[in-house]
Amino acid sequence: MTEPHKSSANLVFAADLGGTHLRGALVDPEGVIHTHWKQQTPKASSAECVIRALVEVANECQRQRGIDALRAACILVPGTLDSANETVTQAPNLPSLNQFHLKPALEARFGIPVLLENDSNAAAVGETWQGAAKGARNVLCITLGTGVGGGILLDGKLFRGTHGIAGELGHTTLDPFNGPECKCGNRGCLEMFASATAIVRMTLESLSSYPDSILQDTRLTAAKVFEAGKRGDQLALQIFSIVGAYLGVGIANLINVLGPEVVVVGGGVANGWSLFEASMRAQVLKRAFPSLTQLVSIKPAQCGDNAGLLGAAHLAWTSLPSD
Ligand SMILES: [Zn+2]
Repeated sequence: MTEPHKSSANLVFAADLGGTHLRGALVDPEGVIHTHWKQQTPKASSAECVIRALVEVANECQRQRGIDALRAACILVPGTLDSANETVTQAPNLPSLNQFHLKPALEARFGIPVLLENDSNAAAVGETWQGAAKGARNVLCITLGTGVGGGILLDGKLFRGTHGIAGELGHTTLDPFNGPECKCGNRGCLEMFASATAIVRMTLESLSSYPDSILQDTRLTAAKVFEAGKRGDQLALQIFSIVGAYLGVGIANLINVLGPEVVVVGGGVANGWSLFEASMRAQVLKRAFPSLTQLVSIKPAQCGDNAGLLGAAHLAWTSLPSD
């Protein structure tokens, strides 16, 4: 065995600090993932435990790749950051990080430049670098998971807004007066109609009207509703049609405001694309300016679970001075 070539150390560390899993990867400047590692996110209450776990994952990735130096790191946080992207403002699933100065703490531990980014913002960057929006300058990325996240790229750059909290596409209002209450305090947010949580809630609400549905007597999950839809279950098809309709209204609003080239729909619920695409497109055509809808391409995401990690890697690479 020869020693790894020196250029093999030309890698950044990208990590996605999810509520359940902590995933890390080493990524080169071309967007190739060289190695990755996944473990449980520590449930302990201190920020120190989270930092230790991030260091462990980075060390494991370096061990697998046989290198002892990294260029930079970017850590994705499921929450909001301050305007300087140094402090976690609020991470509902990792409350020990609330108001914690995570960036300086990680830089002290890693000894390399460390960036922090919101996970949905990074997914938008990843899809624009290597996925469905490759090469586009103005991109909206909507991530349909347990909640609904979003990221906006304008003129090729991530748009963070004045205080670093822009792009919360899941909390745009679609039904202000009759819509269900959202945990953000608003009513009728997109998240209340297009998330995995919403799919389960809406299916339960309609179950009594569909006595023949194969979803009767099952412990509902969004994935089960999707499987039932693929088998032609009328209740499941109706639910996905509603998901698409609300999503389409939300996308139409965003198209009229921002005039993007590409709208990417990702996250676990986007697996149901074939079941919600028609009702989504129908609403977009009905509501957005025809001059804009002719120019925009609405697509499912392509990077899957790796969108965030790739976005993190791209942000890390572009933060470094070019050699
Ligand atoms: Zn909301």
